[in-house]
Amino acid sequence: MWYVKKNIMARKYDFLVIGSGLAGLSFALKVAEHGTVALVSKTKISESNTWYAQGGIAAVTSFPDSYEKHINDTLDCGDGLCDIETVEMVVSEAPKQISELLKWGMRFDTTPDGTFDLAREGGHSEYRVLHHKDRTGTEIMRALIEEARNHKNIHLLDHHFAIDLITQHHLGSTVTRQMDNIECYGAYVLDVHRNEISTMLSRVTFIATGGIGNIYQTTTNPVIATGDGVSMVYRAKGLVENMEFVQFHPTALYNPGERPSFLITEALRGHGAILRTNDGKEFMHKYDKRHSLAPRDIVARAIDTEIKLRGEDHVLLDATHLEPENLIAHFPTIHEKCMTLGIDMRKQPIPVVPAAHYLCGGIRVDKNAQTSIKRLYAGGEATYTGLHGANRLASNSLLEAIVYADRGATHALENFRSFTFNEVIPAWNDEGTRLPEEMILITQEFKELQAIMTNYVGIVRSNLRLKRAFERLEIIYRETEELYEKSVVSTQLCELRNAINVAYLVIKMARRRKESRGLHYTLDFPNKNRIV
Ligand SMILES: Cc1cc2nc3c(=O)[nH]c(=O)nc-3n(C[C@H](O)[C@H](O)[C@H](O)COP(=O)(O)OP(=O)(O)OC[C@H]3O[C@@H](n4cnc5c(N)ncnc54)[C@H](O)[C@@H]3O)c2cc1C
Repeated sequence: MWYVKKNIMARKYDFLVIGSGLAGLSFALKVAEHGTVALVSKTKISESNTWYAQGGIAAVTSFPDSYEKHINDTLDCGDGLCDIETVEMVVSEAPKQISELLKWGMRFDTTPDGTFDLAREGGHSEYRVLHHKDRTGTEIMRALIEEARNHKNIHLLDHHFAIDLITQHHLGSTVTRQMDNIECYGAYVLDVHRNEISTMLSRVTFIATGGIGNIYQTTTNPVIATGDGVSMVYRAKGLVENMEFVQFHPTALYNPGERPSFLITEALRGHGAILRTNDGKEFMHKYDKRHSLAPRDIVARAIDTEIKLRGEDHVLLDATHLEPENLIAHFPTIHEKCMTLGIDMRKQPIPVVPAAHYLCGGIRVDKNAQTSIKRLYAGGEATYTGLHGANRLASNSLLEAIVYADRGATHALENFRSFTFNEVIPAWNDEGTRLPEEMILITQEFKELQAIMTNYVGIVRSNLRLKRAFERLEIIYRETEELYEKSVVSTQLCELRNAINVAYLVIKMARRRKESRGLHYTLDFPNKNRIV
């Protein structure tokens, strides 16, 4: 079963979409009226970061909120590194994209008078987060998957793993990173069930492969989040930026051994829940005037500091003072999950710890979602658009995903007919390869990678820690490349390789940044007004 059959015929689609979260599905739905679409997803279609999104999607929908306030909150959170034009563009296009979601059948919660039931999260100066209970992502995926399944032009290919993008490199050209005419002709894709690798040719390729949370030991991301798209683009010599800005969510449920970690949405703090140390004392007043609703980087570092100072495993999130029925009506999933661990959040505080959650950097795209590689677009968490800068404002990521899918689709539709299929692409060549090494080699390297990133490249960094991480990573990089050269391609091996690749980029970019800013906090350049 391990042998990979050779590819016989290339498959051709106008659009190849890699990833089935909000970015990939919404791009596919928007281009499908005009051409054929293959949407590949490495496990089941629903498995994505989008599925797990709880809190909601930020958009200005009513007075007294305004674009200006949403823009200012985003800029404030981004700590000086946001691209202002991008922020203005995304915020002002949000209402239109909310209408698109409604058109596709998304059900947002409403109040008895029929207006949106808006939530407030950390860093937001207004109530502006549209949601579906505490299962917003699941509801988005339900609506979009249904639409995509019913579209005759969309071929949903689950358990199809994109291995690499196809560029001139595969025609034998030497491609350098400086080259400005790299083109993407599609991707090599492994059909996981059949063990076959297809050459999937496309006029336009859209990368929507999501985040990188699994390079850390504790993450809210599902196991699919291994940075495949970022890594593929980097290997194809495309631009990748701002990888040092990895957001840790301050409040994942403390439940050792559970992977992914269960997220306790920020909306619970927006609803009035308070962070406390294990002796019941509120501590956020020491760190920020917004207390428990300060931006995530500040809250995560504050929790990290309290845990380390006190030598405890977690802090507490206390919702016991809130009206019980209302609490359960708003947060049914969290209530159910806590009850499985014997925690009744109406009566007991919830133990929480920070967990790797969101990648602010990624594949560089312009305002039309174009990457530095021609015919290659990208959207969602895999990208760096300039919206988040050094830190993402809560609930701006679903918004970014759908706005950029829309802009990418509009731009691609204007151009795709001028792109011809490249018919001379060779099939995937796995000659000379053998059976894979034992799985233990892969799983052990993955554990080592996660330990390196967690211990040295986490919430608080230093020159020494980053140097150490770099040196240790080099060893597992070399071992994995050797393994890759002589093994039959498998999803697990490709994911390990991709994860090492993105970890390298995080470390490299973190070492280059000689300051503490946003999510990147280093002991060697502490800012006076920031916490240690
Ligand atoms: C627990 C949790 C809660 C969150 N809550 C919120 C929230 O309330 N509001 C908000 O705005 N954001 C939230 N986020 C972040 C947000 O969900 C994500 O940033 C967003 O959904 C990313 O969408 P995406 O389409 O870019 O990627 P994803 O939804 O992650 O989709 C990526 C897709 O790519 C596929 N894929 C990856 N690699 C390959 C490959 N090699 N070949 C084929 N397919 C591949 C995956 O299988 C998956 O289908 C949350 C994230 C998590 C984890």
